[in-house]
Amino acid sequence: MLPYGRQSISEEDIAAVVEILRGDWLTTGPAVTAFEQAVGQLAGGHRAISTTSGTSALHTAYAGMGVGPGDEVVTTPMTFVATASTASILGATVLFADVDQDTALLDPAAVEVVMTERTKVVAAVDYAGQPADYAALQPIADRVGALTLADAAHSIGGTAGGRPVGDLADVTTFSFFPTKNLTTGEGGAVVAKDPGIAQRAHEFHFIGLVRDSDRFRLTDEGPWHQEVHELGLNYRLTDIASALGLAQLRRLADFKRRRAEIVARYDAAFAALDGVRTPVQRDGVDPVWHLYPLRVLDGRRRQVFERMRADGIGVQVNYIPVYWHPVYADAGYRRGMCPNAEAFYAEELSLPLFPDLTDDQVDQVVDSVVTALR
Ligand SMILES: *Cc1c(COP(=O)(O)O)cnc(C)c1O
Repeated sequence: MLPYGRQSISEEDIAAVVEILRGDWLTTGPAVTAFEQAVGQLAGGHRAISTTSGTSALHTAYAGMGVGPGDEVVTTPMTFVATASTASILGATVLFADVDQDTALLDPAAVEVVMTERTKVVAAVDYAGQPADYAALQPIADRVGALTLADAAHSIGGTAGGRPVGDLADVTTFSFFPTKNLTTGEGGAVVAKDPGIAQRAHEFHFIGLVRDSDRFRLTDEGPWHQEVHELGLNYRLTDIASALGLAQLRRLADFKRRRAEIVARYDAAFAALDGVRTPVQRDGVDPVWHLYPLRVLDGRRRQVFERMRADGIGVQVNYIPVYWHPVYADAGYRRGMCPNAEAFYAEELSLPLFPDLTDDQVDQVVDSVVTALR
């Protein structure tokens, strides 16, 4: 089965990992620091904290922003559940705002309708790899003293208005799962513009340990002294994974270029085909296409999905609207709340898209779509 996404691992990537295995530091070592610096540099020059996954990055980001009971987080339903669930786990109330019907990106006007004085974070998702409209979202968030979060699990290396992903929202999170734009196996990162938020996020992902003697609240017990002021978890990325991440970062520009070539090949092939719509790109953005979300019209998505799977093409659907999940439905969230997201979901079909996909394989996917629609 041709997968919808997969990692690209080079001999250099392998050598980078092996070098760590022969060295002194498997975790909390110099490769972690170097990877965090490189991610921070790519993401607008802000502090980056590496984590064990995109999910733990979101949990860490919300904790760093001080999200807790009584707070509201406004987000999109067109995402992986973790964008919402990590805020819920901290005790916040999640409010879903609808998406733009063409791009599936959070609609700033819909955010304005649902947000209140209690809104602490407006969390957008760079769906498929194009940055959401942070230029519009930021002033809306600012009006009630809320922060913006970019779930950039799809978009590392992208830009909007000439600014890199990581510099577009107050806080940004990444995922380095194998299907994403670069991988560390499992992994993620948080980037924060505010040094206080970054420090709080760092401590949360490091068990809450405070090691700066200026901040000690107890009498210093000796060289081993460290304190916990707020609860945290161990969400540390290893040096093994960080070395892979550093090697992958050097290939990100090539990955981006190849992904764009494949998207252009799909766009050209489907431009004149009845029964489908190609992805819509937002003005002013330079995406890193993580997904190719084809829209299959006339209620035929399921049929096309099954025919293509039978053809050995591993198509995927991204995503079931988050509030449909029983955990949210049981809490009283009702279907129909975000009609654009639900309509998008009903038509969406993610075609295979990853750097090592060959032109022949792309053409095979195109033939499979055309055949399935007949
Ligand atoms: C992949 C993904 C996550 C979670 O990342 P993991 O590394 O799988 O935990 C969160 N949000 C979005 C939009 C994602 O695509």
